Amino acid sequence: MKRRDLIKGIGGGLAVAGLSACSGADPSGEVKESSKAKTHKWTMVTTWPKNFPGVGIGAERIAKLITQNSGGRITVQVYASGELVPAMEVMTAVSDGSAQMGHGAAYYWKGKAAAAQFFAAVPFGMNAQEMNGWLYYGGGLELWREVYEPFGVLPHPGGNTGTQMGGWFNKEINSLEDLKGLKMRIPGLGGEILKRAGGIPVLLPGGEIFTALQTGTIDATEWIGPYNDLAFGLHQAAKYYYYPGWHEPGTVLECMVNKAAYEELSEDLQGIVDTAISSVNSEMLAEYTARNAEALRSLKTEHNIVPRPYPEDVIKRLKELREEVIAETIAADPMSARVYESFNKFQQDVAAYHEVSERAFYKTRDL
Ligand code: CA
Repeated sequence: MKRRDLIKGIGGGLAVAGLSACSGADPSGEVKESSKAKTHKWTMVTTWPKNFPGVGIGAERIAKLITQNSGGRITVQVYASGELVPAMEVMTAVSDGSAQMGHGAAYYWKGKAAAAQFFAAVPFGMNAQEMNGWLYYGGGLELWREVYEPFGVLPHPGGNTGTQMGGWFNKEINSLEDLKGLKMRIPGLGGEILKRAGGIPVLLPGGEIFTALQTGTIDATEWIGPYNDLAFGLHQAAKYYYYPGWHEPGTVLECMVNKAAYEELSEDLQGIVDTAISSVNSEMLAEYTARNAEALRSLKTEHNIVPRPYPEDVIKRLKELREEVIAETIAADPMSARVYESFNKFQQDVAAYHEVSERAFYKTRDL
């Protein structure tokens, strides 16, 4: 199935129902003209600080593409975290229709639906390329839509950061002991794993991280990668920068659309919305690939940051704890079990393929 067909297949049936509900008549040329003339004033709320590089700019770009490509028939006004609603209220705002769109990351909503976390990042799970494969062609997106169905929200992959960094720490991490009592900003399943390792996970939106780290409210934080970490100045608040982001191997950002608002759109406008989002989903990964490389160089050469790998025994223990966390999450929630089954099956398949392709190629390139 082609990707466009998949997107259309998911939203398409609803679109037809929405149109005939609006017009109450057969889809004659006249109805089409009147639906084409209709304009929509939309609001997008986000979990990101204003104009934040990468994720925030990506959200702005989706809005701009929709407004521009619809010739102004839909205008989308973007609000940063806290402007209309706090970051952690974004999904609620899209669900209750006070905003028609939202941009964030699905693990922020684990309190509403535990299964949501699997669509953002799974520790030791799939990277960006693999997540896109699963979501678009491996059944992931259909499951994601099913998880959000009760909220009246249509989720889309709305960007990807690529493999993140392990995070910034105010002390060296030499052994598991060093994680005990460590207060770290780390969301989702990664936070649960840290908790089992004796740490204290804290969920803070991006805009509060720097101050929390600088004032010692937290001892460590992960955020995204060099591009965004440098933009926040995290290197000025902690000096130990660890890799890799075992907890976020290829984080999927999400763009949510209020389902009722989407159904009010004519089919061509629905296509414009879908295409704008999927286009930014790809562009953002390209931006992160380019900008992370530049920012890493800058952190090393201009700010004397020496990134260091997590000790292997720490990583091994975190991976064991990951199995416990996943087992408990899926035992407690049947939907999480279904989502993880699909996720895991895809990961096994793609890992076998990437063993002889991506991984084998990296090794070859380094010879
Ligand atoms: Ca992160």
